[in-house]
Formats: sequence, C-alpha cells, structure tokens
Amino acid sequence: MKALLFSGGLDSSAIAWWLKPDLCVTIDYGQHSAGGEMAASTALCEIIGLKHRAIKVDLSALGSGSMAGKAVAAGASAAEFWPYRNQMLVTIAAMKLMPEGVNEIMLGAVSTDRHADGKSPFLRSLDRTMSVQEGGMRVTAPARKMSTVTLLKNSAFPYSLIGLTFSCHVHEFACGQCSGCTKHRECVEHAYGRPGGRA
Ligand SMILES: [Zn+2]
Repeated sequence: MKALLFSGGLDSSAIAWWLKPDLCVTIDYGQHSAGGEMAASTALCEIIGLKHRAIKVDLSALGSGSMAGKAVAAGASAAEFWPYRNQMLVTIAAMKLMPEGVNEIMLGAVSTDRHADGKSPFLRSLDRTMSVQEGGMRVTAPARKMSTVTLLKNSAFPYSLIGLTFSCHVHEFACGQCSGCTKHRECVEHAYGRPGGRA
C-alpha cells in the first residue's frame, strides 16, 4: 500500500490527483498552519475520492522558524525552515502505517525545493534508512525532478480545485504574504495563466 504525505499544498495535491495513492496522511505536528492543512487535505480527499488519515502529535516545543512561531535556526535557508522536518514526518507516518500494511511513503518534494531534506541526496538516504528496517518501507518522491508548475501541468490538476489547496506557513488561514502564499500565487498564475487567488 502506498501512502502520500498530504499537506493540502500544491505539490502534494497534484500528486494525489495524479497518482491516486491508497491513502493520504496529514500530520498535525503543532505547526501554526495545521488547521488550514487539515481542512484543505480533508476536503480534497473527499472530492478526489481518496482515503484520508489524520495524525496529531504536538511537537511544537521542538520546532523553530516561522512554522513554529519561533526564531529561525542558525544555518536555515529560509524563514519556514523546521529542522529535520521531513525525516520527522516520514517517521511518524511510518510508525503509524507500517503495521497497517503501508510499504511506501510518498513525499511531495519538487525540484525547486530549497531545503536539503527535499533534495535527492537526502531522499535517497532516507529511503535506504527506512528500507533496511523491518517492514522494508520505501520512501519515494515521484515529482522530485519537476518544478511545481510542471507538476501541476503534468498531473492535469484541475484549476477548479485550486481554491481548496492551502500553502500558508504561518497561519491556519492563508495570510497572503508568507513565502508559501507567495509561491502558491505565482505557481498557479504560471501553470494556468489565471489568477492564483487565495493560498
Ligand atoms: Zn501565508
């Protein structure tokens, strides 16, 4: 069984539409945007017809950067940097889902990701780390060679669902100003040639 880490953002929404995973999993780990991610992912799964699972585990005390409402960590490449975020998310999902028969976790990483934990060397390492353990869990990122704009086009994600997606880093409602909201607006305008609207 394949599970997709699903935030309700453009990248994971396009992958959900494109590959129709057996399960989409959204994790509320205490990030400020959790309420918006959960609402978006729940609505999108219902409309697309995909199984959805929510996991809640409050790690806000361990986070840093704008997603945690705290100072940015030394060495961060962007304000939203949350140290070790992707390995944390994959591990939490795998802890819950491996016993239920999931043997592949998909990430929504794309070629334009700035953080090291969205790039190929990390993704290969994490795949190996997970797969040598019990359950043989694989970690894949099917869109890692595509930009968000290319992914939206290749997946044929419908413009009519864009309004349900959510990319804000700092609030449960789209702030319209953070890098997540800005990227959302720009990518939608480039992919569809139509307004990016809310984020
Ligand atoms: Zn925002």
